[in-house]
Amino acid sequence: MDTEKLIRDVVQNVIKRLKSELPQGREVPGSGQRLDVKAEEKEGPAAVGVETIRASRREVPQRKIVCGVSVRHVHLSREHVDVLYGKDYKLQILRELYQPGTYAYKETVTIVGPKLNAIQNVRILGPLRDRTQVELAKTDCIILGIDAPVRASGDLEGSASAVLIGPKGAVYLSEGVIRANRHIHLSQEDADYFGIKDNQLVDVRVGGPKGLTFNNVQVRVSPEFKSEMHVDTDDANAADLVNGSLVEIVDASCISPIVPAMADANHTPPPIPDSSFAGEITDTNILKSMSVFTPVKGSSVFKFFAGSQPETVEGKSSPEGSGSGSSPGSRPGKILITVNDLDNYKDTGIKLGPNVILTPLARDEALARGIKIFQ
Ligand SMILES: [Zn+2]
Repeated sequence: MDTEKLIRDVVQNVIKRLKSELPQGREVPGSGQRLDVKAEEKEGPAAVGVETIRASRREVPQRKIVCGVSVRHVHLSREHVDVLYGKDYKLQILRELYQPGTYAYKETVTIVGPKLNAIQNVRILGPLRDRTQVELAKTDCIILGIDAPVRASGDLEGSASAVLIGPKGAVYLSEGVIRANRHIHLSQEDADYFGIKDNQLVDVRVGGPKGLTFNNVQVRVSPEFKSEMHVDTDDANAADLVNGSLVEIVDASCISPIVPAMADANHTPPPIPDSSFAGEITDTNILKSMSVFTPVKGSSVFKFFAGSQPETVEGKSSPEGSGSGSSPGSRPGKILITVNDLDNYKDTGIKLGPNVILTPLARDEALARGIKIFQ
């Protein structure tokens, strides 16, 4: 087999396809620029390597997609609003979201999982739905001890459970907790431009120093949508994405495995030692949002998760006997000091150490109140 000829044939086929996809002189919608495939043509096939094709593809001005970062949130049913906030309670709209007809409410809920940790101030998004749905990132799930599956919105069969707490009551949700899949809301106009159909999976490339390519991004097409990619906070943080970042839908065929310089196909990486930080949460911003909620044994929240980790409920007082914010179960022996705990330290001051976590807000507030902080 003449490998060189085979490669040349493949390259020529790709060039032919590119030319047919991008007719000469066609105006790229929205760019005001005209495509010119002539330059490439003049060089002739022999001069066009794979690198040139990649380069020429990158030069094609692409429409970018705006990114929306979905922080953990809940969609509630009417029935559950009644339980959490009281019968016929009318939720107040805080602000409209980018997708037409969707909004954030002023009201929030607290979520508790089987570790009996809680995450407070979880935003309720509108409009109300037939079924309550909780959307978390993996990091949230680790804090709560919830193994939520990756699902498309609305696909809740057999998903994870949690307890939601509002000012008037608690909801014991036996299913409805998911990690939302990466998805793009695509306007009909952009769907036509890209030639993408509803429910198609695409890859999405992010540039910059933390750039990466997201796979398995589900595209939803509707004339009602404004084009926007939704990712959770873990995906966004991994790629340094913020609301409004621009990303690019790419053709998966551009990505191929690197050819190894040395033959070592059977190489397996060594196992990670136990002392690694895998699975440990050290982000104080996340800890800051965790509450000091401690259901007592025999309480209904405890019963809902009974059998999961009962030992975390008892004996949770921290070694120093103060820092009430130490989170049960997940960080044994560590003390989290939040603004709410500062009263306990107003006479003694705060002694920092490897096991003491002082939130940035608490530090500022302690200094403002004249509470001493020792190293
Ligand atoms: Zn979405």
